Amino acid sequence: MRLTGVIAIDGPAASGKTAVGRILAQRLRHKFLDTGSMYRATTWMALKKGVDLTSEEELSRLVRELKMEIISVPGDGERLLVNGEDVTGRLRDTQVEKWVSPVSKVLGVRRALIKEQRRLARREKMVMAGRDIGTVVFPKAQFKIFLMASPEERARRRYLELENLGHPVSYAAVLEELNRRDRMDTERRYSPLKPATDAHVLDTEGFTIEEVVDRIMAFIEGR
Ligand code: C5P
Repeated sequence: MRLTGVIAIDGPAASGKTAVGRILAQRLRHKFLDTGSMYRATTWMALKKGVDLTSEEELSRLVRELKMEIISVPGDGERLLVNGEDVTGRLRDTQVEKWVSPVSKVLGVRRALIKEQRRLARREKMVMAGRDIGTVVFPKAQFKIFLMASPEERARRRYLELENLGHPVSYAAVLEELNRRDRMDTERRYSPLKPATDAHVLDTEGFTIEEVVDRIMAFIEGR
């Protein structure tokens, strides 16, 4: 399976994958898919339906019942619909933030979402952001980028982002939450967070989003 149409962007929480991936996709005229939003949407639906979040069986059953759709709304970016419901505004809720990593380590959840990610990429060229795109979802992606930055820098970015969204949080709480999530994502059994051996690792510290995109473009064009 050589899927030349996929550009994989992986990295830890708040490393800039989504912001960078979205602009990169625009420049390349590719579609953009933030796979984190699919794990978040699954977590939100589980919370909403009162599913036992510690039950692998219940979570695996739930995820198979979810139909996800990404629609572009002019002036409002992409919206994620799950079984027809727009869940975009719920994806950063505190409870979702707390439970998304435990939900994401369940094999049944991963299998269903990975299948969906592969299906979506069959149709068009894509920039896909996540934790395991270059290692598991598309091990033969044409380009693999792994974004990094220190936990403090990433927490600062996420703190500003949440503040802009009107979520009252403290920097210390954001840093703690981010470290907790990274630890769980790195230590899990299936699809642990790590750079693919053939990934281009980029330290984004001190660079703007546009500068990171420029570097990725230079890498892609230089290949
Ligand atoms: O990218 P984002 O921080 O929104 O991802 C939320 C969570 O979803 C991650 O902490 C991780 O547990 C999970 N995730 C994953 N695999 C992906 C993308 C996200 O396990 N490809």
